[in-house]
Amino acid sequence: MFRRILIANRGEIACRVVRTARRLGIATVAVYSEADVGALHVREADEAVAIGPAPSADSYLRIDRIVDACRQTGAEAVHPGYGFLSERAAFAEALAAEGIVFIGPTPAAITAMGDKIASKRLAQAAGVATVPGHLGVIEDAAAAIPIAGEIGYPVMLKASAGGGGRGMRIARDDAELCDGFASARHEAKSSFGDDRVFIEKYIEEPRHIEIQVLGDAHGNIVHLGERECSIQRRHQKVVEEAPSPFLDAAMRTAMGDQAVALARAVGYRSAGTVEFIVDRERRFYFLEMNTRLQVEHPVTECVTGLDLVEWMIRIAAGERLPFGQDDVRLDGWAIEARIYAEDPQRNFLPSIGRLVRYRPPAGPGIRVDTGVCEGADIPLHYDPMIAKLVASGSDRGEAVARLRRALDGFYIAGVRHNIGFLSAIAASGRFAEAALSTDFIAHEFPNGFAPPAAFVAADRAMLVAAALAERRLSESEAAADAGEAATGATDVTILLDGQPHGLRVGSQGDSLVVEHDGVRHVAATDWQPGEPLLRLRLDGVEAIVQMERRPARTFRLMHDGVIRRAQVLSPRAAELLLAMPAKQPADTSRRVLSPMPGLLTAIAVGEGQEVKAGEPLATVEAMKMENVLRAERDGRIARLCAKPGDSLAVDQVILEFE
Ligand code: ADP
Repeated sequence: MFRRILIANRGEIACRVVRTARRLGIATVAVYSEADVGALHVREADEAVAIGPAPSADSYLRIDRIVDACRQTGAEAVHPGYGFLSERAAFAEALAAEGIVFIGPTPAAITAMGDKIASKRLAQAAGVATVPGHLGVIEDAAAAIPIAGEIGYPVMLKASAGGGGRGMRIARDDAELCDGFASARHEAKSSFGDDRVFIEKYIEEPRHIEIQVLGDAHGNIVHLGERECSIQRRHQKVVEEAPSPFLDAAMRTAMGDQAVALARAVGYRSAGTVEFIVDRERRFYFLEMNTRLQVEHPVTECVTGLDLVEWMIRIAAGERLPFGQDDVRLDGWAIEARIYAEDPQRNFLPSIGRLVRYRPPAGPGIRVDTGVCEGADIPLHYDPMIAKLVASGSDRGEAVARLRRALDGFYIAGVRHNIGFLSAIAASGRFAEAALSTDFIAHEFPNGFAPPAAFVAADRAMLVAAALAERRLSESEAAADAGEAATGATDVTILLDGQPHGLRVGSQGDSLVVEHDGVRHVAATDWQPGEPLLRLRLDGVEAIVQMERRPARTFRLMHDGVIRRAQVLSPRAAELLLAMPAKQPADTSRRVLSPMPGLLTAIAVGEGQEVKAGEPLATVEAMKMENVLRAERDGRIARLCAKPGDSLAVDQVILEFE
């Protein structure tokens, strides 16, 4: 076994690898860029080596510097995590040339699976079902038309070198095909430096189901069941689970057998994932193989009881898998939600800044994999993932319930995040029914993430929480003034997102009795002013409501996927407030501001041009993501205030409408 390994990565996955290495008694070396000097992975590893400036091209992607760091520290092996150099055959080769072990597959397997066209050919030859399509490079749009005609619309154009959901376009007719071809090719060239594009059938309302495989260097290969990753946004995974609610044992065996056959065909060793797309008729088709540890590997660990990082390390050290396919047991259910620094209410724009508060949940069946702690900065140079929350239980229902509660109890302040959005997914009826497909988010949130217009179940808990909090606050104020707190029943009006709700609040022992809408509720809490989580027992049911205080007796509340403002007033004050003419919000709609610091890469409009709401205006690149800013209304462009290539500050004006 290795004595010391280096982890060529950052963030949660670097911390994750440290954890297993430590348990196995292996010393760890972290590497870090200038942006990560104080990062958690640096502190958690036994030692750390600086490898360059913040941009990943100058640090985490520098093979030479990482090889130097190994030499310097005597690391015998390297775990690459995911992303960065994890699927670069040249990296594995450079390490091998120095006598350092790459904790992953062989360079040949990485190369064979690194290209979508080549890997589909290989899969076909290994007897694996592939998406119907044309396994060749399409030279131009004219050549694409007859091929698409043969496959039958809709089709999907894909970058052969693609990854991360980029370089893909759906086309439903010849016109879309021509547009899509040009833009897919352009994106392929700019993202991957390789403009080869191919076409396959677009599978409607598919599910994404992938098989985890594990192979050793002695020819033993097993699969560890599947993960379903159908909850995606722009072809990127958001929520994943194991097992898949769609599979039965026979289909699991069929998919598992094909995954193992493919792994065997490339002499696969280490952990790898064979991705499939599954149509409504349960036909499954190979998409691609990822020759690394996946972000969503924890759900497989929860249901198999195996530590995938441990097995990657043991296999790299030459150990044999001591178990066979029949020994692999799937037990229980696990769901992972990816917590990102992004703003779901503003088209998921990435958010950067300091985690002023970071309080992950804990409890039975809850695992949080993270690379940050309170006070850390979310830098703009890397992927904006903050943490992965994994909830497991004996069945799907228990896992979903634990996930919902854990999301309510996950408190982050200082950066925008998607916890409320993830809660809304987890709380949706369609998720409970496991009616999943890759267009789940587009269907469930057609207008983005916004609070429901109607009064929903979560609102009741939020109303009661606001009433309880207000009562506690006035009690503590009364105590501070040595006065008498109100003990009798009082009437309050709570404006919930501006909608008035009359409540009568009275005490009953340690509990409060709240009457709302003719119904009497009994509620208790041990909440203290200043705490962001209000744990509530409402009519015998436990709930957590997140609450941030704002001026004017207002709270920002979040519970079970609903975010609202609640203002607690006396009935008279509420009446007066509602009678006041509504203040016109300042008109900021004339200007388009940069939502974050970044690089202005393109402006899609010119001065004097008419645009319609929803049309793209400009592209800002930040945190490795291209963010397209769209017109919020119809209008004419008056002035461009920045040009492509400009570095933008947050809220810098990009252009003005007339
Ligand atoms: P990437 O390597 O960029 O992640 P994949 O080939 O793995 O690309 O596909 C990512 C996602 O794109 C899939 O999970 C699915 O949602 C969608 N997708 C890919 N190919 C198809 C297809 N032929 N039909 C429908 N959806 C597809």
